[in-house]
Amino acid sequence: MSFNIIFFGPPAAGKGTQAKIIEQGHKLRQLSTGDMLRAQVAEGTALGKQAKAIMDSGKLVSDEIVIGMIADSMSRAKNVKGFIFDGFPRTTAQAQALDTMLAERGEKINMVLELQVDDSALLSRVEKRAAEEGRSDDTVDAMKVRLEQYRSYSADVLPYYQAKEIVFGVDGMRSIDEVTMQIEAVLEQDQAA
Ligand code: AMP
Repeated sequence: MSFNIIFFGPPAAGKGTQAKIIEQGHKLRQLSTGDMLRAQVAEGTALGKQAKAIMDSGKLVSDEIVIGMIADSMSRAKNVKGFIFDGFPRTTAQAQALDTMLAERGEKINMVLELQVDDSALLSRVEKRAAEEGRSDDTVDAMKVRLEQYRSYSADVLPYYQAKEIVFGVDGMRSIDEVTMQIEAVLEQDQAA
């Protein structure tokens, strides 16, 4: 039995942090399109060069690029019970492509966990992360765009999954441990996780 989850939430909501904690205990594999894109930029590939300016501005890279990266990672993953999609899908086209890719494996998205965090907390987390990690899109200007983008794409993507009744809210304002506990509690509702 496979189990696939989407971690949905605004930039700096803690999706990556929580995905890294949850994947270990559940034999799931985190697939972060943001991490994959940053790796391409760091390696200086053609794709990375194409994506960098868009990422730095806070806008979305093309569906084609991120869907291709996800398809490739899914096909290479071995010995996993399922995936934690982190930062993907961000458009309805990505959500539909993901459903198709999973259906080809006889799988589906079992749950969408929506991490809810106030904008003011996001801005201070990004300031902290900018100092720690030096991400070039963790600036005040890019963050403004990223939050606007989030508002616009979540209005498309969340209803897509709400219609399937698989969206669960998580209070992302709490400590890392408390958020993990909330996520574990939601996952326990589904025996497969
Ligand atoms: P993240 O680390 O998820 O915040 O992603 C950093 C940046 O990578 C985003 O602001 C986008 O420019 C790009 N990106 C990551 N995932 C996606 C996606 N699913 N669709 C489009 N662009 C993405």
